[in-house]
Amino acid sequence: MEKNTHVDLVVIGAGPGGYAAAFRAADLGKDVLLVEKDETLGGVCLNRGCIPSKALLHISKAISETKDLSMAGVSFDKVKIDIQKVKKYKDRIVSQLNKGISSLANARKVNVLKGQAKFKSNTELTIRVGKEAKKVTFEKCIIASGSTAATIPGLPKNNDKVLTSRTALELKHIPKRLLVIGGGVIGLELGQVYSSLGSEVSVVEYLPGLIPGADPDMVKPLQKKLESQFKTIKVSTKVTKVESNSDGGFTVSLEGQEKTETKKFDSVLISVGRKPNTDLLNLSATDIDINEKGFIVVDVYQRTKVKNIFAIGDITGNPMLAHKATHEGKVAAEVSCGVSSAMDARVIPSVVYTNPEVAWVGLTEKEAKEKGVKYEKGEFPWAASGKAIILNAEQGKTKVLFDPESKKILGAAIVGPSAGDLISEACLAIEMGADAEDIGLTVHPHPTLGETFAAAAEVYTKTITDLYIPSKGVK
Ligand code: FAD
Repeated sequence: MEKNTHVDLVVIGAGPGGYAAAFRAADLGKDVLLVEKDETLGGVCLNRGCIPSKALLHISKAISETKDLSMAGVSFDKVKIDIQKVKKYKDRIVSQLNKGISSLANARKVNVLKGQAKFKSNTELTIRVGKEAKKVTFEKCIIASGSTAATIPGLPKNNDKVLTSRTALELKHIPKRLLVIGGGVIGLELGQVYSSLGSEVSVVEYLPGLIPGADPDMVKPLQKKLESQFKTIKVSTKVTKVESNSDGGFTVSLEGQEKTETKKFDSVLISVGRKPNTDLLNLSATDIDINEKGFIVVDVYQRTKVKNIFAIGDITGNPMLAHKATHEGKVAAEVSCGVSSAMDARVIPSVVYTNPEVAWVGLTEKEAKEKGVKYEKGEFPWAASGKAIILNAEQGKTKVLFDPESKKILGAAIVGPSAGDLISEACLAIEMGADAEDIGLTVHPHPTLGETFAAAAEVYTKTITDLYIPSKGVK
């Protein structure tokens, strides 16, 4: 690439938002430059997020399932874990997908530049490639620079036993006693991975419950499972100090509602949220607005205050999820290419890929109560599902919320194996404006967990036959 270049569109960051934006714009005929500071494409999601964590959770689930099978008369020897092979398995998946993205970029003739982008003005970037600085002027720019793990003050510095999600996924060592600070999605997923790999895991959460975004009744089966796997789970508890010990471990001070205590751990994993990657961008050279938390402010067209600059994905704030980044990336690409498009997705689903999985979409009961939104619900306990009983997943549940007037679906939540896959049907139902009858009268295959979605709607319409609810049925 020339030292000074002018492009139609430059995309900063090749995560799931950035590469989707670059590819869509290239397909629409634009000359696209995709700038990425990492060695590989795919961003956090592929290199140190969704994919490696789910690869490890797959192992964790398989271990748990083999244990469950003992009640069906099938037993296995004690699990033997070769951590180097586990690492190789995870790295191979990541690298296979890295190559896939690179070949998709090549096929579309997207120009990929490995370098770090920084704004000089509303129409110009400086890109540092090694020791060289390149000047790129652009017609349009899409910022997709993502986010990084947030931290808490007072942690021991330069200590590789203080883990973030990124270093935890590298599996450099499996500590005997691990403290996970933060009982949100990432903390619980990685806690379950380390527990399966042999660590004694404790979790501390500042808020009164785990997974604060989900309804507590949907988190309960997960919490029960984690209580049997983890050493302790403390909620409404604050970590006030983490001190290094001479034996290489840590003494952690915990302040609960009733007592303050200190506990010893061999490693701590910080999973207390994520912060936007704005620090390298030099946004002060532009007229882009950021909010009080540092995320870039955008409109429904993913436009920043500067009309030729768009922003997508984690850098624009919650929900910080790969599928939201990808969807926004396509919208930004289309708008920047003059195609009529907007971020008008009715809902964005959330999934916790633990065992059991927890997934929800649209309105939750918690949110409805906080906002005073009227709703009615249908709930189907998986104890009445043949497939769930086969899978030893009787603790699962499917819950669907409906508008009392129109009977249209407002939201849904599922807890149990494959909840993350099952929730897609609820997403489609919400997007299509389905009502309870549409869902209940859709014939679902038997025996499947998918049936529980229709069954929850039938509980609501009082047409369910798989349960006996002593109230008047409807004709
Ligand atoms: P990122 O994926 O963060 O990519 C941004 C890219 O921009 C990075 O590659 C970065 O190097 C590059 N960059 C930054 N600044 C510059 C610059 N100045 N110049 C050039 N390049 C730059 N989400 C899900 O939906 N499902 C999951 O299961 C899931 N699991 C997760 C597990 C973990 C452990 C973590 C940490 C996250 C997980 N997420 C999950 C969240 C998901 O990874 C993010 O929402 C998603 O990656 C955001 O995509 P993005 O394109 O906005 O940014």
